[in-house]
Amino acid sequence: MRKLQMVDLGAQYQKIKKDIDEAIQGVIDSSAFINGPEVKNFQTELESYLNVKHVIPCGNGTDALQIALMALDLKPGDEVITADFTFAATVEVIHLLGLKSVLVDVDYDTFLIDPEKIRAAITPKTKAIIPVHLFGQCANMDEINKIAKEHNLFVIEDTAQGIGADFKGEKAGTIGTIGTTSFFPSKNLGCYGDGGAIFTNDDALAHKMRGICNHGMYQRYYHDEIGVNSRLDSIQAAILRVKLHHLDEYNKARRKAADFYNEAFQDIPELLTPAKADNSTHVYHQYTLRVTNGKRNELKEFLESKGIPAMIYYPVPLRKQKAYDTGNYKDTDFPNTNKLIEEVISLPMHTELDKEQLEFIKESVLEFFTS
Ligand SMILES: *Cc1c(COP(=O)(O)O)cnc(C)c1O
Repeated sequence: MRKLQMVDLGAQYQKIKKDIDEAIQGVIDSSAFINGPEVKNFQTELESYLNVKHVIPCGNGTDALQIALMALDLKPGDEVITADFTFAATVEVIHLLGLKSVLVDVDYDTFLIDPEKIRAAITPKTKAIIPVHLFGQCANMDEINKIAKEHNLFVIEDTAQGIGADFKGEKAGTIGTIGTTSFFPSKNLGCYGDGGAIFTNDDALAHKMRGICNHGMYQRYYHDEIGVNSRLDSIQAAILRVKLHHLDEYNKARRKAADFYNEAFQDIPELLTPAKADNSTHVYHQYTLRVTNGKRNELKEFLESKGIPAMIYYPVPLRKQKAYDTGNYKDTDFPNTNKLIEEVISLPMHTELDKEQLEFIKESVLEFFTS
C-alpha cells in the first residue's frame, strides 16, 4: 500500500507530470516570470470557470483577504465579524489593518459561521462580515447577504477551502461583495508554492484591488493608494492553468472518498460524520469527524500508530489565541466552538486515495471503536 498522507501531492503530480513540466519549462523559456501571459490567461480561465467578472491574482490567500479589506476604505476601530473556528489568517489581516475582529460561534454540525450569531454581534461600528467556507462547503450565503443588505455591510467570502463548491448553482466566492482564495499546495486548487486570488463582480472594486496588489499604482510610477506587492508568479499561474482543468474531477474524487468514509462510519454512535450544509455542494477540503466520547486524542494516536495521519483542525479557537485574546469574550457564547476543539479530527483527504487505503483507514477506525 502507498504511504498514507493527509495530502498526496506526489501521486497527483505523477499523473499530470508531462503537462506540468511543459508548463514550467514554457515560462522559463519565455523569461516572462512576472505578470506574463500565463497569469493573464489563468485569470481569464478562472473568471470563466467561476462565472465571475473579475479575478485578481495575488501572492497568497492571506494577502487576498488583506487586499480585499484594504479596498473597502474602513477606518481604524471598524468592526469585522468572522468565525471563531477557522484558520488564523482570516482574523490576522483584520488586526493588521487596525480594524477590530468580532468573533462569533459556528454551527456544531456544519462547522460554518452561524448567521443568527452574526446578527446578534452587529453594532453601529460593524462594516463587514467574513464568512469562511470552512472545510469545503458554503456558509449560508442567503442569510448572510440578507443581513449585509439590512445593515449595509460588505461580505468577503474566504474561499481558501471552498474553491469549486456551489451555493444554489453559484460558485463559492462569487456571491458576496468580494471572494478570496488560496492556491497553497494542499488546497483544492493548489500550485507548487504560494498563490492566491480575489474575485468580484464590482468593476470599481476590481480596479482598485488590482492597483493595491501593485503598490497602489494605476499608471506607472504614479501611486494613488498605499498598496502592497502581491503577485502570482507566472510559473505558479502556468501550473494552475493545468490543474484548473482537473479541478472538478479532483473535487469529485474527494467527494467519492468522503462518501466512502460516511458510509463506513455511519453506525458508530460515538463518531459523527460531517453534516451537509443546506444549498451547498461539498468539496471536502477536509474530511472532519467529531468524536463524542472524549477519546479523540486516543483515536489520533491509535491511527498514527498504524501509519494513518490525522490532524486537529483547529485545536484553539481564535478568541483564545495569545495574539487575539482580548479577554472580552464569554465562554458561554461559544458552546459549539468549545465542543468542536475537543472533538474534531480530520482524516486523510485528497485526490489520490485508493480503495486499499480507504479500506485500511476504515478497518482501523472500526477496530478502535469496537475493541
Ligand atoms: C489557507 C487559508 C488561508 C490563507 O491562505 P495562504 O495562501 O496560506 O495565505 C486563509 N483562510 C483560510 C480559511 C485558509 O484555509
